[in-house]
Amino acid sequence: MPPLDKHKAEEIGEYDYFVIGGGSGGLASARRAAQYGAKVGLVEATHRLGGTCVNVGCVPKKIMWYTADIAENIRKAVSYGFGDEKIAEQMTAKYDWTTLKHKRDAYIKRLNGIYERNLVNDKVDYHEGFASFVDANTLEITGLDGEKYKVKAKNICVAVGGRPTKPSEDTIPGANYGIDSDGFFDIEEQPKTVVVVGAGYIAVELAGVFNTLGTETHLVIRHEKVLRTFDPLIQDTLTPYMEKTGLNVHKTSNVKKVEKTASGRLSVHIDSLDKPIEADVLLWAIGRHANTEKIAADKAGLKLDDKGRISVDDYQNTNVPHIFSIGDVTGKVELTPVAIAAGRRLSNRLFGPDKFKDDKLSYDNIPSVVFSHPTIGAIGLTEPQAREKFGDKVTIYKTSFKSMSFAMMEEEHKQPTAYKLVCVGDEEKVVGVHIIGEGSDEMLQGFGVAVKMGATKSDFDSCVAIRELSSVEV
Ligand code: FAD
Ligand code: NDP
Repeated sequence: MPPLDKHKAEEIGEYDYFVIGGGSGGLASARRAAQYGAKVGLVEATHRLGGTCVNVGCVPKKIMWYTADIAENIRKAVSYGFGDEKIAEQMTAKYDWTTLKHKRDAYIKRLNGIYERNLVNDKVDYHEGFASFVDANTLEITGLDGEKYKVKAKNICVAVGGRPTKPSEDTIPGANYGIDSDGFFDIEEQPKTVVVVGAGYIAVELAGVFNTLGTETHLVIRHEKVLRTFDPLIQDTLTPYMEKTGLNVHKTSNVKKVEKTASGRLSVHIDSLDKPIEADVLLWAIGRHANTEKIAADKAGLKLDDKGRISVDDYQNTNVPHIFSIGDVTGKVELTPVAIAAGRRLSNRLFGPDKFKDDKLSYDNIPSVVFSHPTIGAIGLTEPQAREKFGDKVTIYKTSFKSMSFAMMEEEHKQPTAYKLVCVGDEEKVVGVHIIGEGSDEMLQGFGVAVKMGATKSDFDSCVAIRELSSVEV
């Protein structure tokens, strides 16, 4: 179904609700509002509905993580008696990045189509173009063909998301030779050598994929450990394990300059090495920033903070009545389920039945997963955060072991597992759960429910273990 014709759009009159941005949050909010019978429009600046998550985020990243996981399981299979090292080597050496990339692109194109059909089914008018404010109730849409038209709305939701940050050429000469996470998904052939810069979610996940698939991988981090916003147990378990798997972690390092070599490769100079690293790809993964520069927020009187993000209260209200904002652009918690939940709850509140008149998303205790090798799950306070808030009322329980699933493998291929519970007070209420190890990504959701319900350590203890054997020391 094609996007709305602009001439028809001009005849529509005033919308009850108009959403800027067809990503995770915007789509969810627009569809929920329309399901309540509101007259809803949505504008997306690209040909591809679904936003960051579907096109250049969670979805293609998870496919790459599954790919890497399969590579690990091929190696594991040999330990369990399937084939031999040679067969495993042959299988992994024959990995065809290019074919997988095109299959992945085709899958995402199918998803784009499903998102479009969902909008049509829910009777949301879908506009294709770039929106900017004319005033607090009027937007100008510049279609992808360059033609402009205006739409009016009683309520507007800004869900324009963010995009990757790259250093400027002034700070790091040659920085533009590097790609970002969007560029990662355009790579046609598996690079032989890569340099990834950053220590957050994206750097850890993408460096892990490259390394597991056999690319020589260098990770340049400014401090001693990766994932510094996570509990120390996570940082202390993952960082050395990454090194053990052959990933070259360059600690307390910064990129100084980047040059192109005569053969078209990149020469990446970092301050902790005398010689530059010669690489096929340099990938910046140093954070993201809000997509607000060109939306003319000032024309609506909409305030941005010093980082260009839209400040909202607990109900996603901005400083302008009837203008709301959700998702990454608000700079709260940059996760797809958060954008979706905030968007749906906002529409419940604005257009739903009375029982939802105070509906809002609670930003406390949001579970989060990192698709590293092994995976990580975290919810609630880290130990340092809990100690700062509750002092000596904090009790910590932790354990570490090797999962039995690695029992048949050589020591160097065994992934670590480590769990920590952060508890508070005499009743030992669990205020933080931090887990790393095979399966942690899937395991976290259940712990999330328990923490949200206010479970105590004794509640955790009272639940009989599913199978003791999975956690024996091997
Ligand atoms: P977006 O999804 O970014 O959507 C914003 C949309 O607005 C875009 O389509 C954009 O084109 C459009 N737009 C911008 N300006 C305008 C305009 N002026 N007019 C019209 N349209 C406009 N989160 C997870 O929960 N799990 C993960 O595993 C995960 N992995 C990730 C991996 C990577 C590599 C990246 C980059 C992100 C990942 N995320 C993950 C984060 C997740 O993708 C975002 O939190 C989520 O997409 C935010 O949704 P949003 O609706 O706020 O913005
Ligand atoms: P993050 O904010 O997670 O991490 C970026 C890190 O890069 C910083 O923590 C910092 O670490 C380091 N950094 C910052 N500036 C520089 C610099 N100039 N030079 C070198 N290193 C620098 O951002 P990401 O881009 O990784 O991801 C953005 C967001 O997307 C995440 O916060 C997350 O919310 C979401 N996301 C979620 C995923 C998931 O749910 N699995 C996966 C991917 C993304 P330090 O201070 O230690 O140097």
